[in-house]
Amino acid sequence: MADEVEESKSFKALGICEQLVEACHNLGWRNPSKIQAEAIPHALEGKDLIGLAQTGSGKTGAFALPILQALLEATRPHAFFACVLSPTRELAIQIAEQFEALGCGIGLKCAVVVGGVDHVQQAIALAKRPHIVVGTPGRLLDHLSNTKGFSLNALKYLVLDEADRLLNEEFEKALDEILQVIPRERKTYLFSATMTKKVRKLQRACLRNPVKIEAASKYSTVDTLKQQYCFVPAKYKDCYLIYILIEMSGKTSIVFTRTCDSTRLMALMLRNLGLRAIPISGQMSQANRLGALNKFKAGECNILVATDVASRGLDIPSVDMVINYDIPTNSKNYIHRVGRTARAGRSGVAISLVNQYELEWYMQIEKLIGKKLPEFPAVEEEVLMLMERVTEAKRLSLMKINETGRKRRRKGGDDAEEDTDRYRPHPDKPSKKSKKR
Ligand code: AMP
Repeated sequence: MADEVEESKSFKALGICEQLVEACHNLGWRNPSKIQAEAIPHALEGKDLIGLAQTGSGKTGAFALPILQALLEATRPHAFFACVLSPTRELAIQIAEQFEALGCGIGLKCAVVVGGVDHVQQAIALAKRPHIVVGTPGRLLDHLSNTKGFSLNALKYLVLDEADRLLNEEFEKALDEILQVIPRERKTYLFSATMTKKVRKLQRACLRNPVKIEAASKYSTVDTLKQQYCFVPAKYKDCYLIYILIEMSGKTSIVFTRTCDSTRLMALMLRNLGLRAIPISGQMSQANRLGALNKFKAGECNILVATDVASRGLDIPSVDMVINYDIPTNSKNYIHRVGRTARAGRSGVAISLVNQYELEWYMQIEKLIGKKLPEFPAVEEEVLMLMERVTEAKRLSLMKINETGRKRRRKGGDDAEEDTDRYRPHPDKPSKKSKKR
């Protein structure tokens, strides 16, 4: 749910046509969110936009509604009317879902072209001449080069979502090539949670007199977010993590780690301790990533162990707690990570586990958010009581990972993910009682 604007300016008052107002109401959107109220009137006037807004602000509606309205006003049916680029596959899928939900009453056709999914199926979807294409840059470029009959020659709208990330080296080349083969005469919307120098550069390159809209102040964290740190010796970090998860048991949490491998290891370790954890990282196949996300959304697992892939863009509802198991080396990632909780006016907790080697990065974060955070009150004797069980759980997890790796090498296949993304309850669940024993 996005934050609604206080004064109830209706979608109709913003200039949205009746059919789309009805579509919004069918989705339960009573009033526009702040970014929608600010962006839509300019977009309907035909302006280019730069929107500084995070996922959860309602930014998808802010660009989708004006595009759909222009599509409805077009004098003839128009294939490949708009293209939305996103840095992650999950975000692309979420964006397409919102377009489809808003456009279901007007016969909207939408195609998603992302990596990790069969090319042929996507080519078939493109052959149906959808109105909207949502994709990641690499795969879109691939289809532009190799899929017969697919071109964006008549494109009217280009949206770059999470633009700061799209402008990273990873995507820069593909993005430049896409920009070269689409019409210059078009509307461009650029949405980003943070404004970097690169975004400014692109803004100069491809937007015309854009209107800049800011729905959230730069790098701030919301007041309903309780942020704490816990200074821990590196060798006891796992124990502190388990201690916090048990203290806060029942909450939905995301635990952020630095590498893909550590998401797998940690999720296994947590499961060995009876906690309902599931990993998500860029190393998993697309199907497994979506599967993990769905299990988390459905409440089957209440702990998502993630790399920064999941800190951006994903619309994961009601996360109560974010734990930074590894402190991000780039402080802006902290803002993205903790933005997964305390959304839409709800409260949330973010706890950062800082060891002796991460102090400098943590201090950079405090500088960026402009405040000193309070310490999480952990009782050290209680934490250390968990040591034996945590060490054993980690040993078993490492053994399991090594075993799966060996099996995979023998088979030459990729069955390791299946082993780690399935949650199996463990009879030996640690409870507060067992911890205090
Ligand atoms: P977004 O920031 O676009 O990812 O949207 C976050 C969530 O807010 C999605 O689940 C949307 O369905 C929801 N949402 C978007 N606009 C509104 C609105 N005006 N009122 C209520 N919910 C909304």
